[in-house]
Amino acid sequence: MRRIFVAGNWKMNLSLAGTRGLVEALKKAVGAEKRLDVAVAPPFVYLAAAVEAARGSVITVAAQDVYFETEGAFTGEVSPAMLLDVGCTWTIVGHSERRHVLGETDDLIAKKVKASLDAGLKVILCVGELLEEREAGRTRDVVRTQVVKGLFDLSAETLADVVIAYEPVWAIGTGVTAKPGDANEVHGFIRGLLSEKFGDALAADMTIQYGGSVKPENAAELMGQPEVDGALVGGASLKAGPFVEIIRGALAAKGL
Ligand code: PEP
Repeated sequence: MRRIFVAGNWKMNLSLAGTRGLVEALKKAVGAEKRLDVAVAPPFVYLAAAVEAARGSVITVAAQDVYFETEGAFTGEVSPAMLLDVGCTWTIVGHSERRHVLGETDDLIAKKVKASLDAGLKVILCVGELLEEREAGRTRDVVRTQVVKGLFDLSAETLADVVIAYEPVWAIGTGVTAKPGDANEVHGFIRGLLSEKFGDALAADMTIQYGGSVKPENAAELMGQPEVDGALVGGASLKAGPFVEIIRGALAAKGL
């Protein structure tokens, strides 16, 4: 049975003290919560501090990106082994800001996914269409390409360490959220793709998060959708109060 998973993507925000403070506050509120999974993704430089602050709780730590090489002359990059070394459990790969602001391609993203999984790092793979792609009726084509290129060269066993985040780009950081039914429809489509390639049982077990302006006010409705297995939260994860409300919304929506 798939797990419900709520993760906070802090992007390029907070400070060392802010990271410690926020993880401490989350630890008090949900640090013993076993009914779902909770992770936070601080900037690289604060990962070790977040791991330290989360120690003794169920909260895991994710990087926001990773490189596919193990070591060497790759100035500015960080390898999967390094992330594991400081205690990360996850890395986000293919976030829309990396795809569309920093120009990452599906080929690069696929290499990052594979290298992470080979090293033992779990992956949150982000997929999602631009507004013009949605308006042109191309959502399914775009999402299909991203899922196929990101995951279809992997073995079925490795997919146990992958979570997909469906994040329509037009909903990220805009305050505009996908209609719950529309999100559910794309999640169902993604699960169908997984099912065709890897079989029904594996597809049914895979966690598919929704991301894009998730807030306390819309969390329960979004996660009340049967295909929506949690959330990847940006802005609303930067303060303990709203993030904890979203986690509680997930618990309520799923009847956990
Ligand atoms: C994100 O960064 O993945 C995200 C969904 O951001 P926000 O919740 O701010 O839209």
